[in-house]
Amino acid sequence: MKITAVRVHTLRAALERPFAFSQWRFTRRETTLVEVSTDAGFEGWGEAYGPSAPIAAAVGEFFSPLVVGRDPRDTEALWDFLYARSIDYGQKGTLLAAISALDIAFWDIKARAAGVPLYRLLGGAPTEKIPCYATGFYYSEDYERAFRQEAARYLELGFDAVKMKVGYGLERDVGLVRLVREAVGPRVRLMMDANHAYDPVTAIALGRRVEPLEIGWFEEPVSPLDVEGYLEVKRNLAIPLAGGECEYTRFGFEPLLRRRALDYAQPDLCSCGGISEGMKIAVLASVYNIHVTPHAWGSAVGQTAALHFYAARPRQPFTTTPELRLIECDQTENPFRTRIVTNPIRFQNGCWHLPEGPGLGIQIDRQALAGFE
Ligand code: CA
Repeated sequence: MKITAVRVHTLRAALERPFAFSQWRFTRRETTLVEVSTDAGFEGWGEAYGPSAPIAAAVGEFFSPLVVGRDPRDTEALWDFLYARSIDYGQKGTLLAAISALDIAFWDIKARAAGVPLYRLLGGAPTEKIPCYATGFYYSEDYERAFRQEAARYLELGFDAVKMKVGYGLERDVGLVRLVREAVGPRVRLMMDANHAYDPVTAIALGRRVEPLEIGWFEEPVSPLDVEGYLEVKRNLAIPLAGGECEYTRFGFEPLLRRRALDYAQPDLCSCGGISEGMKIAVLASVYNIHVTPHAWGSAVGQTAALHFYAARPRQPFTTTPELRLIECDQTENPFRTRIVTNPIRFQNGCWHLPEGPGLGIQIDRQALAGFE
């Protein structure tokens, strides 16, 4: 089997209701999908997380000519080849996001050609249902009303875990966390995410104020560049720490894991290096007894890739405790998540049911896709 073409799809959509987090305000969504065609009739889809323009150039102009003619089933060999070609200029960032998209598409093809769902090719899943947590509670003008509505909706959908945004300043954050805790009730697991808005001393101060509200994890409390800062926060709080969506490859994750800066490692499959590298990061994390729960904030393609990876990832410690088996289920407005596939993953009572079709198991709705290009 040979790769005959790589096509880049840049998707853009304006949001009906803009929302904000600690770093900026979203008025539109944008993502990059990669479609890989073969001479065997199989096609594969991947997604890159990050700014579309440089990613489109990286995939379309730099990497595509290198992979046309190669067998997409040689996933490890192709990963090494592409990383070796780019390591001098970009060990992290855009070039890795581009490799990630290609790698996901290669795995999609490999599993389609094998006639099995991707998670099975990766090693299989212990359960057919994957419990998720709802990511929401972003800041908006009428956040009080919005939070109550969101809480009611998530409970109705069967979520028993939710994640909210913080990082707007200590006092405001404490108020917001109280509001969400009150809205979701005492039994729902509540995580909070600062998107690296704080220095260690402020993150610790916030953590101490909200510790009595039973926080499941504190995500990106400090800069992703500050491993010592993570360790300082960890030493001073009982709340577990999560992070890693801004980190890349096993080489980037290794010091965070070895030094136990994280309790939950969150590689994004669409930027950390794809399925191939995600599995290596998960192996490393298992050595250090650290949970892996992928960051997933993209389209249906990236979300599904994360689901297959999560289902099949190596685990440590071995447990049946449900709170350790949670994957991100973004609930913010995103038409690329909800409208570009003809057979969305079945979601029921706070859980995804693993797709049983070959490959990623989703069919792209080309007409819907074209509407966003
Ligand atoms: Ca996050």
